[in-house]
Amino acid sequence: MDPRAPLLRLVDLALPPRCPGCGAIVEADHRFCAGCWDSLQFLGAPWCAACNLPFDFDRGPGARCAACLADPPPHDGVRAAVAYGDVARRLALKLKYGGRLAAAETMARAMARLVPEGADLLVPVPLHRWRLWSRGFNQAVLIAHGVARRSGLPVERDLLRRVRATPKLQGLGRRARAKAVAGAFALGPGARAKLQGRTVLLVDDVHTSGATGDACARLLKRGGAARVILLCWARVLAEEAPLD
Ligand SMILES: [Zn+2]
Ligand SMILES: [Zn+2]
Repeated sequence: MDPRAPLLRLVDLALPPRCPGCGAIVEADHRFCAGCWDSLQFLGAPWCAACNLPFDFDRGPGARCAACLADPPPHDGVRAAVAYGDVARRLALKLKYGGRLAAAETMARAMARLVPEGADLLVPVPLHRWRLWSRGFNQAVLIAHGVARRSGLPVERDLLRRVRATPKLQGLGRRARAKAVAGAFALGPGARAKLQGRTVLLVDDVHTSGATGDACARLLKRGGAARVILLCWARVLAEEAPLD
């Protein structure tokens, strides 16, 4: 028997596992309670062949959403574990502002199953150093390390840099968002050698308009990446719903 067993049991008693969504006591760490689990919308096919926006019905292989038909994205898909909703948002806020690192682990578990075949490396979306300083951590890095533990893929946190702080994109239109992030990112030293011909998973917590992901994907491809797939915890669906 593990000599620490009584102590571990004591810790277990003191800190029962709690639902990452609402804090209700649950049977194991990183498990959602039945209510939160029911309210989470896990994303999957049928979806847009370009951006993985879920479709209500199967439109056939290669079908694209209205946005991608009008303007093909610079990336090779967006793999998001869940749709952005109440519970997904609570978890993202807990991680970002509450510093609850366990939330990163919960997200990473749900995201690990979305890691596509042939992926080579994980690149977290960088934070500007001022924001990093005030927050103390980059949530995307924490999530990427969680995914790395499950997938065995390396985390490369210096390939991309945020060289300019960006304003809050909330409430801005598509064009204004793209303008706000233009020039905000740069490749780190030595990035080209590591990116050449690779399939990159760009890791973030929430995928909203795509402005950030698009800017990073463009840059990574310019640096030599063969494919850039966005991997995130939650995706805002309403803003990107097809226009029809
Ligand atoms: Zn719950
Ligand atoms: Zn699409």
